[in-house]
Amino acid sequence: MTENVRVRFAPSPTGPLHIGGVRTALFNYLFAKKHGGDFILRIEDTDQNRYVEGAEQYIIDSLNWCGIPFDEGVSKPGDFGPYRQSERKQLYKQYADNLVASGNAYYAFDTAESLDFHRKDHEAKGKTFIYNWHNRLKLNNSLALSAEEVKEKLDGGEDYVIRFKSPQDETLHLKDIIRGDIKIDTNILDDKVLFKSDGMPTYHLANIVDDHLMKITHVIRGEEWLPSLALHYQLYNALGWDTPEFAHLPLILKPTGKGKLSKRDGDKLGFPVFPLEWTDPKTNDVSRGYKEDGYFPEAMVNFLAFLGWNPGTEQEIFSLEELINSFDLGRVNKSGARFDPDKTKWFNHHYMQEQDNDTLANSFKKQRSELEDIDINYISMVIGLIKERATFISDFWDLSHFFFVAPSSYDEKASKKAFKDGTAAILTEVLTLVNNMEDFTVSTLTSAIKGWITSNNIGFGKVMMPLRLALVGALQGPDVFDIMFMIGKNETVKRLEKVVASL
Ligand code: GLU
Repeated sequence: MTENVRVRFAPSPTGPLHIGGVRTALFNYLFAKKHGGDFILRIEDTDQNRYVEGAEQYIIDSLNWCGIPFDEGVSKPGDFGPYRQSERKQLYKQYADNLVASGNAYYAFDTAESLDFHRKDHEAKGKTFIYNWHNRLKLNNSLALSAEEVKEKLDGGEDYVIRFKSPQDETLHLKDIIRGDIKIDTNILDDKVLFKSDGMPTYHLANIVDDHLMKITHVIRGEEWLPSLALHYQLYNALGWDTPEFAHLPLILKPTGKGKLSKRDGDKLGFPVFPLEWTDPKTNDVSRGYKEDGYFPEAMVNFLAFLGWNPGTEQEIFSLEELINSFDLGRVNKSGARFDPDKTKWFNHHYMQEQDNDTLANSFKKQRSELEDIDINYISMVIGLIKERATFISDFWDLSHFFFVAPSSYDEKASKKAFKDGTAAILTEVLTLVNNMEDFTVSTLTSAIKGWITSNNIGFGKVMMPLRLALVGALQGPDVFDIMFMIGKNETVKRLEKVVASL
């Protein structure tokens, strides 16, 4: 690649960013960084009716949380700004006018009511109304009207839109990096609106004008934009511009593999579809986010990378750096990528193991009031012992409460299994051993208690089970000797005495 790679993520701020959008941003980022290029964030807010307060900041926060920052964009000036389309408003009209002047576009004066009438009329006949070559001369536009009539309407300030004049009987040859060559018969295309009566460009016009002016080399976006590709190609040609390269990413499918993943699927099956929590500014409804659900950004990035891409090897764990090195648009699939919520947990569990215990300890401490007065180093050591069983920080308390507070009850089923007739006598002997120990370490505890069990020929379970139950309250947790060492001699003695007294 000789030219400087420039890609853009171009979301519309119409609500929280779906993880599909984050995946699009990620693939753009990976591609840019792999080729030493720039990743641009452009906010496509030309549709004022769909503008949602806070959505733009949400998009920026999401990219930052994922660790895939943009090089240029709103709030990060570059040479091609402004990066918010509403601030570029005055720029688009000239291109629409050019297209009219070159005969590639025309003024259309049809009212909303008349278009609605045609639509309903067609529907009633089981047909779909398409505004294009086959009927445009019968409609209210500058191709059908005389030059004087058109002038009169324009001078009179009549509302109009500018439509692209889609050619008849041509075959377009489109190229997509992921999908290969695509042929389109222009007869099926409609004359899309490029410029609206409110003085704003539509997505199509603004999008290609900006991609051109911002020197975008590769357009990487979701499959839902594939139907727009034919128009975009024609617009580039009509304006005499080179087309960028295109790559349309596969849809993200429901866990069943059927249909597009929606927020409803997440609600039903209990997983978020947004990177960060989102509060709807109108309804105050709160939607869950991966961050708040306890996912690490590394896990999110890793699982998103595998939605539609694979490295062609068995390797599944990839740091962002490794993803940048391995990423290749040629290895992105055409077919939809099934979303697997269990796999996202699997990734999180993996990245949990890689987290620094001190950092985890700080987060854990903030989550539980019981830990307020506990030394952070102690919490950190506990985490080292239990995190192998944890997927989220919110799992920590269940896995570790006995390191911080003595059990107040003993699991009933486990008690029946562990507390037998001879148990009080056995635990009393263990207590004596413990009390006599000067050097209270994991290794001295292990050899003292295990040695005592062996030399007295007692079954291991007869000692270890009640011991664990006395310390933990259930038959769970890490190594018993680790627990004894961590809680210390005094606490160990207290917990054993309590059980002995109750038996
Ligand atoms: N504004 C469009 C969106 O919301 C951008 C599509 C594109 O990348 O061309 O996804």
